[in-house]
Amino acid sequence: MKIIYDQRFADPSYAPDNAGLPGRMASAMAGLRGGPWEVLAPPPAQDADLLLAHDAAFLEGIAGDPPRDAMARLAAGGAILAARTAHGGEPAFACVRPPGHHAARGEAWGHCTFNNVAVALLTLRAEHRIHSALVLDIDAHTGDGTRKVLADWPQAEVFNPYAETAEEYLAVVEARLAEASSVDMVAVSAGFDGYRLDVGHKLDTPDFERLGALARAASLRLCRGRRFAVLEGGYYLPDLGANVAAFCKGFAE
Ligand SMILES: [Zn+2]
Repeated sequence: MKIIYDQRFADPSYAPDNAGLPGRMASAMAGLRGGPWEVLAPPPAQDADLLLAHDAAFLEGIAGDPPRDAMARLAAGGAILAARTAHGGEPAFACVRPPGHHAARGEAWGHCTFNNVAVALLTLRAEHRIHSALVLDIDAHTGDGTRKVLADWPQAEVFNPYAETAEEYLAVVEARLAEASSVDMVAVSAGFDGYRLDVGHKLDTPDFERLGALARAASLRLCRGRRFAVLEGGYYLPDLGANVAAFCKGFAE
């Protein structure tokens, strides 16, 4: 598995929000340093990539905030690199910010700018590498932006599990993945704010490993293991690295 990351993601000055918290990316990467994977730095996404998921007017508006624009382009570029790596046969985790799943074609909220996962999947589709995709969004919040951006692509399914307890949550994910068929790529919007000490107050660290393993197993069954994941939320910094590492362990093995 490849990790997609660049030291520039650690710069918190692009946005004064929770996703831009100082130390957040160092926390996320802490559990991955020294792991059995190569770290690749992404190129920034270009207009042609972003316009697959967003309106030109929206891009112009974001361009008015150069630090945010640069960071968000790097994040989307990271997701694209993860998707291309996955399509080439090796899974990838893009450890990027800002997150993307609350970004629609012409608007974004919830600390998001560009819809990283949607941009990546639409890039693969534009390159005629995939015709269908399954997005598993394990963030505590619903990926409304991803649903909106991918709404006119019938072969793209977006699944936001919901359950009261961690045990139920894992069962819901397992059951839904077992139903899936005819998918060319499995993408995970990997939010970690469902953690028991984060805003979601539900999942524990081993649950993230289990979620990674379920996504891996589904990709092996559906599409020869083609899978990538992109960081979304996750704000409890002391344990973010352990949770990211747990997910990646399950996702990679
Ligand atoms: Zn969230």
